[in-house]
Amino acid sequence: MSQTRRRFIRTSVSAGAALFAKALGVPPKRPASTPTPEPPRQTEDVLFLRPDDSGYAAARQVYNAGILLRPNVIASCATEAGVQKALERARTENWPVAVKSGGHSFEGFSLNDDGLVVNVAPMRDLHLDPKSGLLTAGAGCRLREVNQYLLPKGRFLPSGSCATVGLAGLTLGGGYGMFARKWGLTCDHLRSFRMVDGTGAIRDSAEDPELLWAARGGGNGHFGAVTQLTLQTRPVPRAFSSWKFRAYHLDEARATALLAAWFEATTALPDDAFSAWIMNGSQVTVLLTTIGSSEDKGIVAFRRALTAQTNKATAAPVVPLTKSMPWYYGGPGPEYFKNTSAGFYRGMDDLRSALPGIFFEVFTKPGLVFQINTMGGAITHGADGAYPHRAWSYLGEAQAYWDNPFHASALRAAIGRIRDHIAKAGVTSHYANYPDLAFTDWPTAYYGAENYRRLQALKKRYDPDDHIRHPQSVRLPS
Ligand SMILES: Cc1cc2nc3c(=O)[nH]c(=O)nc-3n(C[C@H](O)[C@H](O)[C@H](O)COP(=O)(O)OP(=O)(O)OC[C@H]3O[C@@H](n4cnc5c(N)ncnc54)[C@H](O)[C@@H]3O)c2cc1C
Repeated sequence: MSQTRRRFIRTSVSAGAALFAKALGVPPKRPASTPTPEPPRQTEDVLFLRPDDSGYAAARQVYNAGILLRPNVIASCATEAGVQKALERARTENWPVAVKSGGHSFEGFSLNDDGLVVNVAPMRDLHLDPKSGLLTAGAGCRLREVNQYLLPKGRFLPSGSCATVGLAGLTLGGGYGMFARKWGLTCDHLRSFRMVDGTGAIRDSAEDPELLWAARGGGNGHFGAVTQLTLQTRPVPRAFSSWKFRAYHLDEARATALLAAWFEATTALPDDAFSAWIMNGSQVTVLLTTIGSSEDKGIVAFRRALTAQTNKATAAPVVPLTKSMPWYYGGPGPEYFKNTSAGFYRGMDDLRSALPGIFFEVFTKPGLVFQINTMGGAITHGADGAYPHRAWSYLGEAQAYWDNPFHASALRAAIGRIRDHIAKAGVTSHYANYPDLAFTDWPTAYYGAENYRRLQALKKRYDPDDHIRHPQSVRLPS
């Protein structure tokens, strides 16, 4: 295997699909440059950082190494009062405001080029009420900190897997992972939140149920800076089981047959289980996990079907969740990548006409990954919120990774062709947390037309001068 190919495989499963780096038996990629820092807590309300200040580079760093935006000022806020001061300064200077938590936006929506960034990263206090199981978290917390805080206390918050993703950004756009079919999205666990709105006023969602509705999937950088979230936790599941199935040297016919078998086998999975179908080059890896019985008949049937269709099946030892979570933490970043939502599907038929084109791109362009994850289960009857995609059973993601900038434009072009194949197949619903600047119909794709109108009404109420904005933030109603 060539150096390039080895590097590609290592890279391709380590970023957007960071979820699966170790589960696939692939060592996580060493950071290409400085790891994404988790800044110390501040004592002052706010630090205004200019580009030549020490601390600016660390506060600006985002997971996508290709994002080059440089805000005039980054306001690192330790308190709500600090956020208010930051918004006041932006208003005085007539600057637009972006809000940054974990910095994982695919398109860099937590930075801007000509304005101010409210960086909530220093706000990272965590408190668990042992009686109610309610977790109150500062908006700067990353997923790893939440796990490290909750798991020893016997509690757990269903979310994504990547350690450095921000809890706020993930929750405000939805938030799914290996436990969403069992318990719902992270945003379904949101009970209340606090925010400084675009006018500088402090808001508590308890005062306006419509705000809580919006923050469940439609709250990323539109109305204000969320400062604190209160979420319902769950008891830690006792055991975690996982399997992986690998198929090599696939051609279009075998890949199609394997995908059909996967879709079919997922329909009998219990809600305790999660599966992902991950194609890079001519190789497919299928991941299956469960927090329920490994002898469940849907699990047993899935394993039988996938073993028959693949070259290698392996089972990991059954372990407690405290042990398995770090397997999926992924690398610290930053990475060069272009990832995008590849849409929501009911099943294979929604995607069938796009498959030859997608497979051709992935077979022929090292660095591309096409992944489909199971949704459904408890997601279908989650809390009332702006997240509109509950009826879909699957979510796709197209990913491209490179180390050498020479490959960037060819990979970006290939992602564009995959996007076109998917659009031509009639797939129109996309995940707001997997944004793509090329989605021209993003308001309906992310939120649906009716929800978008409700979000616009909130925009008018809480940010009437459109101070808080990024390229795909909710627009004021016309
Ligand atoms: C490596 C990687 C792994 C991922 N894994 C998963 C996964 O397993 N499951 C999943 O569902 N998603 C996953 N995602 C997508 C992730 O949910 C989104 O990128 C999410 O928006 C990131 O949040 P953040 O706070 O880290 O990013 P940021 O870039 O800081 O923010 C993302 C967006 O949220 C807004 N925002 C952030 N903080 C606030 C705030 N306090 N108030 C108001 N708006 C705010 C920003 O303005 C921006 O629009 C992954 C992304 C990456 C890069």
